[in-house]
Amino acid sequence: MGSFYASKVFPRYPPSTSYLYSAIFTLLESIIEIGDGSCDFWMDPWLHSGPLLNHSAGLVPVNDFMTDGYWNLLKLHEYGPNDQVSNILQCEVRRERSDEVIWKASNHGNFNFKATWQLIREIQPFSGVHKAIWYKSIPKKVSFTVRRIVQSWLPVDNILQKRGITLASKCQFCGSGENIDHIFIECEMAKSVWQYLHDLFGIQYKNYSSPFHLLINWLDKSPIVGHIRMVIACIALWAIWEGRHKNKNEDRVISKATILSRIFQQIKLLGDGGIFKPVNWRGDLHRVTSFGCNLRVESPSLPRVVKWTKPPDGHFKLNTDGASKGNPGESGCGGILKDKEGSIIMAFGVYLGRETSIVAELKAIQEGLHKLCIKGIRDVMVETDSQLSIQLIRSTCCNWKLRPMVNNIKDMAEICNA
Ligand SMILES: [Zn+2]
Repeated sequence: MGSFYASKVFPRYPPSTSYLYSAIFTLLESIIEIGDGSCDFWMDPWLHSGPLLNHSAGLVPVNDFMTDGYWNLLKLHEYGPNDQVSNILQCEVRRERSDEVIWKASNHGNFNFKATWQLIREIQPFSGVHKAIWYKSIPKKVSFTVRRIVQSWLPVDNILQKRGITLASKCQFCGSGENIDHIFIECEMAKSVWQYLHDLFGIQYKNYSSPFHLLINWLDKSPIVGHIRMVIACIALWAIWEGRHKNKNEDRVISKATILSRIFQQIKLLGDGGIFKPVNWRGDLHRVTSFGCNLRVESPSLPRVVKWTKPPDGHFKLNTDGASKGNPGESGCGGILKDKEGSIIMAFGVYLGRETSIVAELKAIQEGLHKLCIKGIRDVMVETDSQLSIQLIRSTCCNWKLRPMVNNIKDMAEICNA
């Protein structure tokens, strides 16, 4: 009978694995006759007495597996999921506090709309060209224009025609039909500007198919992000668009020389503003004078003397450090324990996998203290170069992901008298 109702309501019956199915089955007092057995063992009503889930002993509170606020290992092994016991033991218990719901998407654990938006929004892959367009040394007015060019978002004649506006399409430089590829690539005016810039930087001129294709080539010829070549390419696109705009709306005749002088003027302005450093001109430093730019040469930073100081009499000193290649990235941590004479008592190094730099720093302290606890070494001074770690340990850690580690460090520091 249950099969009959279910097949009327849900043509895909069976299998049924959702709560909705189970709820409807319960309401209709239905039952599943076992065939290939693909229905859910716990949730589906394949037994006359109803779903097996209903026959469990009822809700079991977590503290049924604890004694005096600590995990009861015996009980966990006896009744708990055996493959999860080690995970359960690593779960921090915050004694003398009630259970608290943590919103995992935020650092502080409280619900907020910003974190929710980050969770649900679709993040488009960010191409190298787009990253270069928005680099900090490129003025925002240029970045916005270049983005509109590569996305074909400019109100050029052929696009306006497609939107139903009746007009005669005419390139403001040569009189041909106007579209984005023509203005920035195919027009003789654009070609002559690009030819000049290619020659200036010793880049081979190609038959580009679009502004995006051209930018890829200039990016390919740039040794670093934010290199002058990429900045020049973006500013040139912007200057061509500005020239077209002035020709059309201000009834002025903008020549190749005017566009080039606009490009040079912009580069000089940025250079005088201290935007460029020698690294931005890597490989092209001899061309700086052509633009009349002043490069800000920073004086090399002097080496700083770092000295290890002895701990007081009867004390040991634990020096720790953690590092990650990227944040997060491949990371590791290590430490060294010395006595007051500077003799090495113990040293360690641990590979941590992909972690953030703060986790690597905290992990170094945690690992060091853990080894001290095992060896029974007391009266220890802990030294780290991570100011953030010190702040987190001294204050009440508000980051729910770091909190268990910080609390563990505090507990072990107390044991080691650190
Ligand atoms: Zn043209």
